Amino acid sequence: MTGDGYEKLGSEKSDYEDGGKKGKSKNNAWKKVKYQLVDYHTLPGYMKDNEYIHRYYRAEWPITQLLLSVFRIHNETLNIWTKNLQQGGKEEEAMSNMLLGPLLSSQTPITRWPFYVFMGGAMFCLLSSSICHLLSCHSQRMSYIVHRVDYTGIALLIATSFYPPVYYSFMCNPFFCNLYLGTITVMGIATMIFSLLPTFQRPEFRSFRASLFFGMGVSAVVPILHKLLLYGTDHPEALQTTIYEVLMGVLYGLGALIYATRVPERWKPGCFDLAGQSHQLFHVLVVAAAFTHYQAGLVYLNWRDLNGC
Ligand SMILES: [Zn+2]
Repeated sequence: MTGDGYEKLGSEKSDYEDGGKKGKSKNNAWKKVKYQLVDYHTLPGYMKDNEYIHRYYRAEWPITQLLLSVFRIHNETLNIWTKNLQQGGKEEEAMSNMLLGPLLSSQTPITRWPFYVFMGGAMFCLLSSSICHLLSCHSQRMSYIVHRVDYTGIALLIATSFYPPVYYSFMCNPFFCNLYLGTITVMGIATMIFSLLPTFQRPEFRSFRASLFFGMGVSAVVPILHKLLLYGTDHPEALQTTIYEVLMGVLYGLGALIYATRVPERWKPGCFDLAGQSHQLFHVLVVAAAFTHYQAGLVYLNWRDLNGC
């Protein structure tokens, strides 16, 4: 255990042996003991995920205590808040751009629905990720459920990320627009089914599940190259959005690398228990990548608002 008060509370226990008021105090004392943060080696097996993070774990608390732990310092605090803050900021900025953009434009504005689809997917992903970090330590069953929802959110974010670039790149070529949107939608639904159904959680499907996520991400190369071939020389926006998309790919790639290698805590185990651990860096890079994607979306909107097809 890490709690400085843990041993102290343990010794207090003997002072509360008699019933009545003392019994009540004993109860409160035990409650306090119960919700102390604990060390890695005392965790139940299903929670032992990163041996380089040594302290400040919440383990098998009731839901109410977990919800209240949003405002406590533990090793998931920053993971929860990095997603929450991004969500708030994104919503506010999106609203102003979506609502004011068409009003400020002198031209008839282009439809915004692909952008709303992307925003919806991103919000769901961020929310499910926050919930996963907040509640997964409640019990093994809860951990299983919220991790499935988290994977579904990631699949939804990847699939819906395709909507603004594909729609605004190919809105004048309905065949390719429908082909690319249809393909990513089917891939997204398949990935969500594979993430949710218990049958596909068996170890033999592990690499297949990973390749579905990877395949979805990599398939973005096709519409991006196609867009460059169509507009690369005539419209600077085509190149500008591609630069954003490449940057987004680099940020996601770097995030995945840090996530997989568990750097920097691997180099100095126990030194990044509260801040600076790989999962927090991964979150920051995902936030940066999604923001880059969002900026690319605004360039597309501006391009089509001004030029139409
Ligand atoms: Zn996370």
